[in-house]
Amino acid sequence: MSDKNYKFGTKAIHAGAEPDPSTGAIMTPIFQTSTFVQESPGKHKGFAYARGKNPTRMALEKNLAALENGKYALCFSSGMGSMDAVIKLLKPGDEVITGDDLYGGSYRMFTKIFAPMGIVFHFVNMTDASNIAKYVNANTKMIWAETPTNPTMQIIDIEACAKIAKEHKLILAVDNTFASPYLQNPLALGADIVMHSVTKYLGGHSDVVMGALIMNDDSLYERIAFIHNSCGATPGPMDSFLVMRGIKTLHLRMERHCFNGRKIAEFLKTHPAIEKIYWPGFTDHPNHEIAKKQMRDFGGMISIVLKNADLEKTFKIASSFEVFSLAESLGGVESLINHPATMTHASIPKEERERVGVVDNLLRLSVGVEDVEDLIADLAQALDK
Ligand SMILES: *Cc1c(COP(=O)(O)O)cnc(C)c1O
Repeated sequence: MSDKNYKFGTKAIHAGAEPDPSTGAIMTPIFQTSTFVQESPGKHKGFAYARGKNPTRMALEKNLAALENGKYALCFSSGMGSMDAVIKLLKPGDEVITGDDLYGGSYRMFTKIFAPMGIVFHFVNMTDASNIAKYVNANTKMIWAETPTNPTMQIIDIEACAKIAKEHKLILAVDNTFASPYLQNPLALGADIVMHSVTKYLGGHSDVVMGALIMNDDSLYERIAFIHNSCGATPGPMDSFLVMRGIKTLHLRMERHCFNGRKIAEFLKTHPAIEKIYWPGFTDHPNHEIAKKQMRDFGGMISIVLKNADLEKTFKIASSFEVFSLAESLGGVESLINHPATMTHASIPKEERERVGVVDNLLRLSVGVEDVEDLIADLAQALDK
């Protein structure tokens, strides 16, 4: 496909996917090889060893760059592997400003792996961007923003973060996993790096674990590509193929995730068993206007707090679903229900998670693309338990 500025759905299907020159195969072959034969030392067709470059992975990277309107993309063997490469841009003494509601694994990596190595993390309420500037000092090097946040669906103003980052020459990295490139493109809003857990909406079928980084700056790309190859958290060709296949329907799936998400959020909003609901599409969500400004729609992630429910009652409801499955992860075609306090966010100390609302009676829904009437009926029967 040429570099012409095609629309999202066209890029999802075609970007990076050239017919195979040797056979004309329309699908990118799975180059299941670790090495490439050289004619004479150093003389090869651009591929030497598959940790550095693999043609299947490269096709996927081109596709992801196109979806985020970025110049470069790099795929990693997991979302955490991609974040690890970003933080490795820093050195001891450097400081990072990040949110107080993060994916549990991100919080764990920052506090348990990189803090002991001397990198300083400030976990601040970023829903009001003016809080961020208060933590900037001479050692600050990076802002790490996740929006919408997992699981309380806080919305962080990416443009406002970018303004602070530019002013103080900081790298702004945005975890765009919950929105997917279909709903939000942080580079266009001034971010330097977009990170995805490709495992979620991009893969979309709960069959691959993968991460990705997308960026525009040449020297930032070179530094991260060096870490990518040197540290080696690179994915295999089979997984790259599966993700390319998954992305071909990303726009269709996202439309249905958003449609089902809205119907379910509206159903739950007035349900007597629900004390609180987090979904950025409601006009009374504290940052609804920012969500409207920076996202194309509001997605299929919804969190609910159950009314008068202790842990036992919460577990009973969480285990009573028939169409929703009780599982970690999100963004797949099948609807999932998750209990953050004991599952995805168990690594965050109780006082800290409760401060941002991750209480024992909170459940997180990843609304899939099944028939929404069946999903609503399933919620109704489970909440009745
Ligand atoms: C799942 C997730 C990650 C981690 O990605 P993996 O692919 O599981 O390593 C990071 N950020 C967010 C928001 C996630 O949901």
